[in-house]
Amino acid sequence: MKNTYFTVGPSQLYPTVKNHLLKAIEDDVMSLSHRSKVFQGWVKEAKDRLRQLLTIPTDHEIFFLGSGTEGMERVIENTVKDSSFHLVNGAFSKRFYQTAKQLGKNASKAEVAPGTGFDFAKISPPKKAEIMCFTHNETSCGVMLPTKDLQVFIRRYPKILTAIDIVSSAPYASLDFRLFDCVFFSVQKGFGLPAGLGVIVVSPRAIEKASYLQKKGMSIGSYHSFLELKKYADKWQTPETPNVLAIYLLNRVIDDFLKVGIAKIRQETDQKAKLLYSRLAKQAKFELFVKDIAYRSPTTLVAAVRGGSLELVKALKAKGLLVGAGYGDNKEKHIRIGNFPATSLAQVKKLIAALG
Ligand SMILES: *Cc1c(COP(=O)(O)O)cnc(C)c1O
Repeated sequence: MKNTYFTVGPSQLYPTVKNHLLKAIEDDVMSLSHRSKVFQGWVKEAKDRLRQLLTIPTDHEIFFLGSGTEGMERVIENTVKDSSFHLVNGAFSKRFYQTAKQLGKNASKAEVAPGTGFDFAKISPPKKAEIMCFTHNETSCGVMLPTKDLQVFIRRYPKILTAIDIVSSAPYASLDFRLFDCVFFSVQKGFGLPAGLGVIVVSPRAIEKASYLQKKGMSIGSYHSFLELKKYADKWQTPETPNVLAIYLLNRVIDDFLKVGIAKIRQETDQKAKLLYSRLAKQAKFELFVKDIAYRSPTTLVAAVRGGSLELVKALKAKGLLVGAGYGDNKEKHIRIGNFPATSLAQVKKLIAALG
């Protein structure tokens, strides 16, 4: 029996990945030089397609990193002289905040309990904040920030840089990239690919800031500083030997996404989420963790299971349906369901039937 992974990362592979992998082996993709014209062609194609898929402005740079977590560190190193401001409502947004502290920055935060969203009317960044850092979808507790409210908030502070983690909301997230200076994600969640590749989209303002910090004599990192990344990106290359296979697969899968159409992908995600949420809400043994409908994530659904989630996770696994356990302290209390493009409506219906 083949398993279906409704886990929140790594997650189900997109159905076309198997054939792309076989083709990659056939075509010696993994032995190809990362300085070759062929590789440069894939890099260009992958970036052009990603731009088209997510509507990324042409003046924003697209760089490859090793992971989503790396995105947090690069953002802080390259854009913050002294102060960053973070919206924290769970483990991943907290990690972003802690990364800034670990790098010796003066990080401040607006924090709410996991499972809740933010009242943007009541939040204001400190005067000295150079960047505001957001986690679009808090994977630990299933809260997605409503994009419209978030963007209205950001427009109030045009002088402050902005960074957003879309690791578990991409490619579903429909952002106005002109409002964000740094946007990053990794590929093992919504893109249905093996782990080991991160992507960051960087605005001209953020590049200028990195350049300013370097001129001031501050460290902006080494081979993955925005300036070093840009130097190589200008030649459709990467500073280091990158995960060539992952870039090849990303290019192929984005091509598949474009053939389906991003509007359809988003609409199917909404449709599957609606079915899952209505089943979880109807069943007495579940309690949705996010109470306010406006903040319930379509890509990461979290429910408390009465009497504990361990047995249910095990029973589903026996049926080939893998869901995530709760995060951290909620490991044995919650289930988390990843709802990404790789799982079909039919597979989601099978999961719904198995939820009892
Ligand atoms: C998974 C996740 C990360 C970490 O990404 P990695 O690729 O594992 O480093 C960061 N932020 C969010 C919101 C995530 O869901």
